[in-house]
Amino acid sequence: MTMKSAAVSAWLFTLSAVVVMAQAQRDVSLVITNGIVVTVDGGNRILNPGAVAIDGSDIVAVDTTDNVRRQFRGRQTIDAAGQVVMPGLVNTHTHAPMVLYRGLADDLALDEWLTKYIFPAEAKTVSPEFVRAGTRLAALEMIESGTTTYADMYYFEEEIAKETKAAGLRGVLGQTVIQFPVADAKTPAEGLARAERFILAFKNDPLITPAVAPHAIYTNDSATLKAAREMSTRLGVPTIIHVAETQSEAITAKERGSATVISYLDSLGFLGPGVVAAHAVWVNDSDMALLKSRGVGVSHNPESNMKLASGIAPVKAYLAANVAIGLGTDGAASNNDLDMFGAMRAASFLQKVATSDPTAVSAKTAVQMATIGGARALGMDKQIGSLEPGKRADVIIVSMSAARQTPMYDPLSHLVYVTRGDDVQTTIVNGKVLMRDRKVLTLDRAAVLRDAKTWAGTVSAAVAR
Ligand SMILES: [Zn+2]
Repeated sequence: MTMKSAAVSAWLFTLSAVVVMAQAQRDVSLVITNGIVVTVDGGNRILNPGAVAIDGSDIVAVDTTDNVRRQFRGRQTIDAAGQVVMPGLVNTHTHAPMVLYRGLADDLALDEWLTKYIFPAEAKTVSPEFVRAGTRLAALEMIESGTTTYADMYYFEEEIAKETKAAGLRGVLGQTVIQFPVADAKTPAEGLARAERFILAFKNDPLITPAVAPHAIYTNDSATLKAAREMSTRLGVPTIIHVAETQSEAITAKERGSATVISYLDSLGFLGPGVVAAHAVWVNDSDMALLKSRGVGVSHNPESNMKLASGIAPVKAYLAANVAIGLGTDGAASNNDLDMFGAMRAASFLQKVATSDPTAVSAKTAVQMATIGGARALGMDKQIGSLEPGKRADVIIVSMSAARQTPMYDPLSHLVYVTRGDDVQTTIVNGKVLMRDRKVLTLDRAAVLRDAKTWAGTVSAAVAR
């Protein structure tokens, strides 16, 4: 072979390889390249530079940028150079519309805060319109701070579901059932009937998982608790409940013949898969064993627990016992924001000081709790919580360029110890871009803020005496 013909055949070979590559490339809806991809998968892989290919609602590839580029061509592309690409955050416990009570009453214990301020304010202001305006504000805050799935417990939950869908977020939304008359139900029976209608209306929705939410044991009698749990089992949906948030909750359990809140709920046959127990602060070893053996998910809300001085959940022990535990913010009236980066940082710091063990909740563990741990607690870890092919495309892109984020040795450390919700640049849920480069695409930001300020006037008037 002459030099010339060798060059020609090499050129032909290269050309044919390019043709084969082009033919093999699959068209997909979105490709994110060049990021620091924190997968939170089984091996906790971090790919740098990594890429994620998304088609429709699903993740189809998570790999190095070179490998993904070779196989996929995105109709839309995002260059995430220098930024972290990670699973969207899962807020396992909140009351979305309560953002409209943000800062209304602070520096109080749960009992006084609830009975003197929150329940009276709710009695005078909660309506479908209030709940819709509050949910839009909460959705705006969640999208802007990287939350892609949230678990909720409130009133008029069907209105919350409509606004959540319109904003493009994923929600596990629990219709409240409570013993005393509230805005959307005069009796617990009405609340249960409302919950059933809501569940049937939203069952099988791609974004909404409807649920029933008996508020707590101290706000429901045993018949109501049993009926709520029976409904959730019958309809195959989650049950969301506040559990052992404060030490005094045990008094109710003792009055009803059980030593602890958890043993009381178990005596009712309440505990099982699909139950999401918010807080679970005051638990003993046998309670913890029950939560594990019954397959209950736990939502840890460190900022709310600290602000209301409710106590410190034994998170280190939960993790050691392999209980499904995620993080939550709780409602904005007791936090006072919905920033899951704050929840990660608080969970880590609080557990370190509570156990005198700086390794109790590491940065890596905090990131897991805010993503795959939350997904497990909500029974959704097959669908969300990590960046893996076959899962729903719930993805966030987080800037790492602030002075406080410089330099960066370890992205997990930065995500927990220096990053804030406002560092999130892009939020994607179910493959749809809800915010790109800080611009929210599914909500009219100015109108949402204007409505919230208008409602604040109504709230102020309602609590003035
Ligand atoms: Zn709560």
